[in-house]
Amino acid sequence: MLSQFERYPLTFGPTPIEHLPRLTAHLGGDVEIYAKREDCNSGLAYGGNKLRKLEYIVPDAIASNADTLVSIGGVQSNHTRMVAAVAAKIGMKCRVIQEAWVPHEDAVYDRVGNIMLTRIMGAESQLVDEGFDIGIRDSWKQAIEDVKAKGGKPYAIPAGASVHKFGGLGYVGFAEEVRKQEAEMGIRFDYIVVCTVTGSTHAGMVVGFKPDGRAGNVIGIDASCTPAQTRAQVLEIARNTSALVGAGEITEDDVVIKEDYAYPVYGVPSKETVEAIRLAARLEAMITDPVYEGKSMQGMIDLVQKGFFPKGSKVLYAHLGGAPALNGYSYTFRNG
Ligand code: PLP
Repeated sequence: MLSQFERYPLTFGPTPIEHLPRLTAHLGGDVEIYAKREDCNSGLAYGGNKLRKLEYIVPDAIASNADTLVSIGGVQSNHTRMVAAVAAKIGMKCRVIQEAWVPHEDAVYDRVGNIMLTRIMGAESQLVDEGFDIGIRDSWKQAIEDVKAKGGKPYAIPAGASVHKFGGLGYVGFAEEVRKQEAEMGIRFDYIVVCTVTGSTHAGMVVGFKPDGRAGNVIGIDASCTPAQTRAQVLEIARNTSALVGAGEITEDDVVIKEDYAYPVYGVPSKETVEAIRLAARLEAMITDPVYEGKSMQGMIDLVQKGFFPKGSKVLYAHLGGAPALNGYSYTFRNG
């Protein structure tokens, strides 16, 4: 579905799929759990899901003759770290807006982890005192205008690289890659579990799994705590992406989102999220973060325990990255 689109390689290649035998056994053994390690996908600044998306956006940025990538996220945004990494790699400047999306306890929250890496890679990072919103923000528009006013040529990448004409393509590629790996492994996954916030990861998977009838088997775990907005954004991106690649009509039923795990708010882990992070770490040494993957891990564990997945199912957990943010949550884990 993707051969007509130009791709700028930023990742190592197909990401590994690993069985998680101790987590599987701990949860009763009725459901086999595997992880696809998108968190280990690249040598660029610890990698993560944004690189698959950016592989299809970078050719457009280069073709536009831009000299500065401009993007937006929270203070501990993985996405802005990845945009800063890509700018460094392709020799462009980078300007990122980092909004105050998360109430936090750690004194060093705005100096460690993602934001520190972003600064080390030379991006101009601007802190803005605005709350969480996955939509298009004025602060980002102003940064684009500011780059122009200073004689630069900006290329605008929205939050999460999602609401961009090519934002959904990368995760269509994920589905194609999974199908190849399934053929090699001689198995078929019944469900794919994915964290969803700005929506293009989930949307790309919906489009990518549509042709083999599994769009509705992609189980999005909302981590935004504004699920109506995320659901609408996933549907819109999926429809636009499907129109680009010709995967047919995407219906509301194709977008499955579980809304029960994002509490208390975006970026703040609940007691249950922290327990899920510890469990995956202690059983599989698989590190998940308090903002995204800890919540999707919590959701997957709860769904297994509730019997949502029929006995004998094979579940593929998409690990999308995000561990650098843990550095901003030392207080949460001060006792292990
Ligand atoms: N997991 C991690 C580690 C992320 O950085 C993000 C980014 O927002 C997500 C999940 C959610 O992906 P998306 O924004 O494409 O819904």
